[in-house]
Amino acid sequence: MFRISKSDYVLGIKCPNALWFKKHRKDLQPEMNQAVLDNGTAVGELACNRFPGGVRITAKPWEEDAITQTKTAVDNNAPFIYEATFGTDTGEYCAVDILRNNNDGTWDIIEVKSTSSPHDYHILDASFQRFVLTHCGIKINKCFIMTFNPNYVRHGDIELDKLFDLHDVTDKLQDFDTAQREIARLRAILDGPELGIAISKAKCSNFYECGYKCHCWKDVPPYSVFDAFRGASADEIYAKYGADLHNVPADMRAKQMHAGDIESFLDNTDIVNKDILRDFTNKLHWPLYFLDYETIMPAVPMFDNSRPYQQICFQFSLHVQRTPGGELKHYEYLHAERGTDPRPGLIKRLIETIGDTGSVIVYNQSFEQVRNSEMAIDFPEYADELNAINARMVDLLVPFRERGLYRPCQNGGASIKLTLPAFVPEMSYANLDIHNGNEASTQFLDFMSGKLTSDEALQLMQSLHEYCGQDTIAMVRLLDVILGILQCQN
Ligand code: SF4
Repeated sequence: MFRISKSDYVLGIKCPNALWFKKHRKDLQPEMNQAVLDNGTAVGELACNRFPGGVRITAKPWEEDAITQTKTAVDNNAPFIYEATFGTDTGEYCAVDILRNNNDGTWDIIEVKSTSSPHDYHILDASFQRFVLTHCGIKINKCFIMTFNPNYVRHGDIELDKLFDLHDVTDKLQDFDTAQREIARLRAILDGPELGIAISKAKCSNFYECGYKCHCWKDVPPYSVFDAFRGASADEIYAKYGADLHNVPADMRAKQMHAGDIESFLDNTDIVNKDILRDFTNKLHWPLYFLDYETIMPAVPMFDNSRPYQQICFQFSLHVQRTPGGELKHYEYLHAERGTDPRPGLIKRLIETIGDTGSVIVYNQSFEQVRNSEMAIDFPEYADELNAINARMVDLLVPFRERGLYRPCQNGGASIKLTLPAFVPEMSYANLDIHNGNEASTQFLDFMSGKLTSDEALQLMQSLHEYCGQDTIAMVRLLDVILGILQCQN
């Protein structure tokens, strides 16, 4: 008999294939993201402090002793039980983050999630927990999902009652019979042979991107109907013609918003629209300032004047070019003092180096612009200068997104990680220690949290210098490509 946990339940409802793989094909197990797991554990422990004076179950949820410890805590009428673990005689089990004693013979389930609001799969998760606990004879009054309060602003010590929001989801849960039926359905699937794999754009990215995609999607080409068509219509086209765009009739291809991408792929030709490129370059005013930020997003605000999951800038790279084709000068800021707020030093350095005139070129404007607007609110003494920088911003993504320039190898995207290798193939992120913004963020958070030795911290600073500088040089080179194309015509 398979044991079924709350995550098995949620996974099986999302996709039976995924649950079947989890139990029968250990060789396909997706890698767990350790940083995400660590964050979840830290948040769970902090959330327990919101309800002090409880009893913690120390055995792991899959160990029999966890159930014994929980039974003792319930019998002793503990006010709160953290990681309260229950199991049915039919093999379903769960650990409740916080079980609250109402002292009237009933208990409340409080499930802690590291998000800013409850999601649909949290409701399934809580439904399963209520089923298991009810099955074990625990009378449940209410179920809550506890999330971060996105509006909480830290001032001084963390105020746990304000940091977290409690959402009463009792009325949204599946009832006992429905949960029981779902469990029976999943058990029948698990006891049967491997199912035919039914991939779907909507399902495979529902809740979260499925970890079994590299197996189920292995025959889907890098650019397919799933890239070229939207949501449900992609699934319909796939069901009829398969994933390969060569098999989709021309009239259906022509109806797509980015029909040009599909034809570019099928004919293996570039898209060049000089009007779009010229519209873009007409907006530029020299000197040009190529700007890029790196950020961390701590779940629990680390600094005053910051909110849960707020993007905190800790580094900028700025390449300056005074005349077309002229020399490049590089400026940067990288916060190197552990435990202190990077933003005041970064803002001061930015204002000193970015001048008063000339275009500020970024790639995907909303990111840098929103960071500046947030810093203008959090540090109002610099609001005028930060808002003035925003007013000078020009987005280099626009000519690529509007298909002024496109290569089939972009596979329908226009991010700098796609346009750079397409148009400046000699520049690559592959040889750098840090390959993307997520890695930069995770490693800098490790530094700020004191997880790195001093040698590791030194190495990280060097890697961050190289990575962030590469992003702004990449923008310079992409603009050179655009200017070169327009010059050829003249
Ligand atoms: S990739 Fe899609 S079909 Fe495969 S297990 Fe995941 S959700 Fe199911």
